[in-house]
Amino acid sequence: MRAPLIAGNWKMNGSLELVATFAEELSQTALPDGVDAALMVPFPYLGIARSRLPEAISIGAQTLSDQPSGAFTGEVSGTMLNDLGVQMVLVGHSERRTLFGEDDSAVLARVQAALEAGLVPVLCLGETLEERDAERTEAVVLGQLDAVLDALSADQRQRLVLAYEPVWAIGTGRTATPEQAQQVHAAIRARLASYDSQLAETMKVLYGGSMKPSNAAELLAQPDIDGGLIGGASLQVDDFLAICQSA
Ligand code: PGA
Repeated sequence: MRAPLIAGNWKMNGSLELVATFAEELSQTALPDGVDAALMVPFPYLGIARSRLPEAISIGAQTLSDQPSGAFTGEVSGTMLNDLGVQMVLVGHSERRTLFGEDDSAVLARVQAALEAGLVPVLCLGETLEERDAERTEAVVLGQLDAVLDALSADQRQRLVLAYEPVWAIGTGRTATPEQAQQVHAAIRARLASYDSQLAETMKVLYGGSMKPSNAAELLAQPDIDGGLIGGASLQVDDFLAICQSA
């Protein structure tokens, strides 16, 4: 009942040429039936990606301001993203949390700003290697989740997508095993059920961290993994499509 979502996260990579490559390839190769796909591209490419890529693929941004408008030089608001036809936005990616100091309250403010602007926030959760080694994985991940869900209404919660991304698996080539990932996804699902059993049934929880064509199928086969957030492998259109095929 949860259609898989394969979302590419280009991070600060890509070019007009890469947008054109995706547009060309996706005009020839249809996305598989029953699979939702999205591409999170850098701000400057959002407008052209939305106009050149097929409607079947959602376009997402990688962050947004927590403010609706005003004197915040360099920031981009949710309303502006909506204006461009952007449908989704990553919030709380581990690179934002660690490199740009976004703590749980900053993440919550951005989730609220995204909801306010009519965007789907893709809320990223994940533990560091030290936290995993200290057996704090579930405490950390569920703590990040509660910090957002506790502040939202039942209706707002339903509009989120979650992404579990162990920090030690991001861009390292080191993927969580399907069992390791499933264990955390099951814990997330159980926590969602404690809010609302319907929420646990319907909310998509993606896995991210070195997902690629060679390991996607076994990760996506896990009962609580509903898709992938793909960094490096989303920069190659063939790899991105291969992962969509295995969903
Ligand atoms: P990766 O990145 O696939 O390159 O590990 C995933 C992410 O950071 O979203």
